[in-house]
Amino acid sequence: MLPSLFISHGSPMLVLSDTPARHFLERYAAELPRPDAIVIVSAHYETARPAVLGDPAPRMIYDFGGFDPKLREMVYAAPGDPALAEIVAGLLDSAALDATVDADWGYDHGTWVPLRLLYPDADIPVVPVSVQPGASARHHFEVGRALAPLRARNVLVIGSGSLTHNLRAIRTELGRNPVDAEAPDWVVAFSEWMQARITAGDTEALLDYRDLAPHAADNHPTDEHLMPLYAAMGAGGDAPRGERIHASHEYGALMMDAYAFT
Ligand code: ZN
Repeated sequence: MLPSLFISHGSPMLVLSDTPARHFLERYAAELPRPDAIVIVSAHYETARPAVLGDPAPRMIYDFGGFDPKLREMVYAAPGDPALAEIVAGLLDSAALDATVDADWGYDHGTWVPLRLLYPDADIPVVPVSVQPGASARHHFEVGRALAPLRARNVLVIGSGSLTHNLRAIRTELGRNPVDAEAPDWVVAFSEWMQARITAGDTEALLDYRDLAPHAADNHPTDEHLMPLYAAMGAGGDAPRGERIHASHEYGALMMDAYAFT
């Protein structure tokens, strides 16, 4: 059975950069059975209550500025899957999560950047699912739990966010830190704490990360980029344990770590 995945999507430049995280994503899909469809919870798809994109041909969303103009010419042409979107919304409704099937979104960069690297042929249907900014880690874990049965249908469930996400910390007076800048201690400490708990399957501590993890608020001034981790964890089963399948950092403070949950 497919695992569920958490992927740190980093900056949109990931798709053009020559970095370990990019090369990891380019290689990793070969280690998995080929999925029939992908359900992806993106930190950039933000709605007040859970939404599932039901568009048969999702549009591109270039939700960024100030990067290489080539990025705005890139297209990820994978089809949507309206029938699967209805199934996903039904699973969320069964868990009392009050989902809607949405027609007004597309492939934001949290979706198309990693998928273009993982599945460049764009021939597997994709169903984006939203996060709820301000809702708890437990809420997003419940979203993931509702999605867990999809894995038995050969659907790959992905949470796309960032293990750390303090964008102010990667800025300098002239722009951004170099992509290979050293990671600060407060970023490393947070990612090591997360790794230890995820590997041990310590779900309760992870759900309470804001109080328990070192430098939690510094690494996530707002935590919508960590919420896809909880969705991936929840989709991992009743006692989810994660394996870290990639670790690297970019621009100093952006950890690019990825996990597989089974
Ligand atoms: Zn992002």
